[in-house]
This record gives sequence, structure tokens and C-alpha cells, in this order.
Amino acid sequence: MKKSVPALLTAFFLGVNIAAAYADELVVYSARKEHLIKPLFDMYTTKTGVQVKYVTGKAGALLERLKAEGSNTPADLFITVDAGNLWKAAKEVVLQPVESEVLKKNVPSHLRDPQNRWFGLSVRARTIVYNKDRVSPSDLDSYSSLGEPRWKGRLLLRTSKKVYNQSLVASLIAEKGETASEKVVSSWVANLPVAPFSSDTKALEAVMAGVGDVTVVNTYYLGRLLKKNSDIPLAIFWPNQNGTGVHMNVSGAGVTKHAKHRDQAVKLLEWLSSDEAQGTFASLNLEYAVNSSVKPDPLVAAWGEFKGNPINVAKYGEYQAQAIKLMDRVGYK
Ligand code: FE
Repeated sequence: MKKSVPALLTAFFLGVNIAAAYADELVVYSARKEHLIKPLFDMYTTKTGVQVKYVTGKAGALLERLKAEGSNTPADLFITVDAGNLWKAAKEVVLQPVESEVLKKNVPSHLRDPQNRWFGLSVRARTIVYNKDRVSPSDLDSYSSLGEPRWKGRLLLRTSKKVYNQSLVASLIAEKGETASEKVVSSWVANLPVAPFSSDTKALEAVMAGVGDVTVVNTYYLGRLLKKNSDIPLAIFWPNQNGTGVHMNVSGAGVTKHAKHRDQAVKLLEWLSSDEAQGTFASLNLEYAVNSSVKPDPLVAAWGEFKGNPINVAKYGEYQAQAIKLMDRVGYK
């Protein structure tokens, strides 16, 4: 931004910080917590001089805020977790398409919006975790098989109100159709010894405590528990390895429809997908990078390689309403 000499002199005499008046900046609304984004924004500011202002909050509340603010929004970039939430933001028309060769190269096509309104920035695997003292991994197979009678009274699940499980069931519907998916989810519910838990961590702790033997969670929640205590009796099982693969989801971001600093927002988004940022972005939450040239944290790498489901994560949004109704019908609370 060029400023005229009189404007500069005015700024000087008014005591305005000229550096601040000149500095490029942008505003991010983030449903990802501060400790997971601030280190990256600090890196970016050090590298480019661009100031990144941010507001953190719940995904739903930030989306409502974007809608309410409309063209007056100060937000340039919206960061959130779960493709279901990103899809909803695009559907509510608070994001705009971005044509970027950098993003196309760094973010595999199944981890971004087919219309380029949002891009995955980290990958989370939602997988089976079991109690090593009570389960032999040879008894495990697929997500669907958790509904078999041998898991009666042994399966624990997080609530169906969480978008993570809505996306998981949406992916089942996308693959198997509604009737077959309903049978699967209904068989899960029949195997629950206790009501669903409010968080992945609570489900894991209940498996440790022997309330049940097996659950389905995002791997980074196990990672957090292992970081505190590597001796816990929990282990990961990668399901569906002879079929569709492990359920994959993303955290990601899109440039807002009314961005005042659109070019800056695109540049930050591109940088977040780069080799330089991806390792930090994924490791801060013990996730996987979208950019496949970046290795995971050693704790995560120790879980081994696995086949992930290559379905486009945007499908989770498309089938979300159907998934919610299905879970309600079969009494999955
Ligand atoms: Fe999470």
C-alpha cells in the first residue's frame, strides 16, 4: 500500500506508528485452538512481516458470526476442523473459491473441496483403539464388524452429536448406502454397555478402566494420553485394510467471501500447506500432514503405515443430514 508524502507526514506528526500503518495484516477466525495455531502464525509473521490477528471459538459459533457479519466481517480466513464443518461453511456461502496451483499441488484432491472453497491442512484418522489386556487384534477387522455379537457389552462410542461421528456415518452411507449403514449403526448401538461419551478422551479412559474393550476415536486423542503416560494399555488397530481403508478427516481452511485482505489470506493458506509449515501444523496436534512429503511426529509414526480411505471428504457434508437422521432413528444418542 503506497501512502502519499503528506499522509506520511500527518501520520508522523500524529505520532502514528508508521511501521504498523504500513504492515500488512489479515484476520483469521479459527475453530482450532490458540495453542495449535499461534506458533504457526508467529512463524509466518517472522518470515513475512505480515501480522496475523485471530479470534478463536467453537466452529458453529464462528460460522454464525461470519453469517451475521456478512460483508462487514473483518475475517479473511476461516479455519475449522472436520470436513462436515468446512462443507457447511461453503454451503452457507461464507467462503469463496481460490484457484491456486500451490494448493492444488500440496493438498491431495480428495482432501479439498471440489469447488476449491476450502482446503484440508491436516489429516486426522478416526480408527479403532482397544484395550491390549482384553482384546487380541486378530479379533478386530472393520468398523462394521464392531456390531457383531462378540462385541456385545464391549463397544464404547462417543456421542452422535459430535460432527466426527456424523462424518464417519456419512462415509458409511456414501459407500454402502443407507439401508446397509443403518444396520451397521444399529448393531453398534446394540453392543453399547453404557451411553455414548461426550468426548473421545472419555471413551478412551473408559476403555482403560474396563467399562468396555474397544472404541472409535481420532488418533491424536490417544497420542495425547500416550504423551502423558506411555504405559497405558491402549493400542491402535487400523480397520478396513482389505477394503475401503481407515476413515480420514481433515482440519482445514477457506478464504471468506468478504475478505478485505484476500491476497494475504491466499498467501497464508498456501504457506500453511507448504513443507515448511505442514510438519508443525500436523505435529502440534499429533495429526498427519496433508502434504505427503512431510513425516509425522515420531509418536505418530510409531503406529505404522496404513491405508486411508481415498473418498473425497466433501462427501461427509453431502451425507451429513442423512447420517444425523439415521443415528437418531436407531437410538444412537
Ligand atoms: Fe478433535
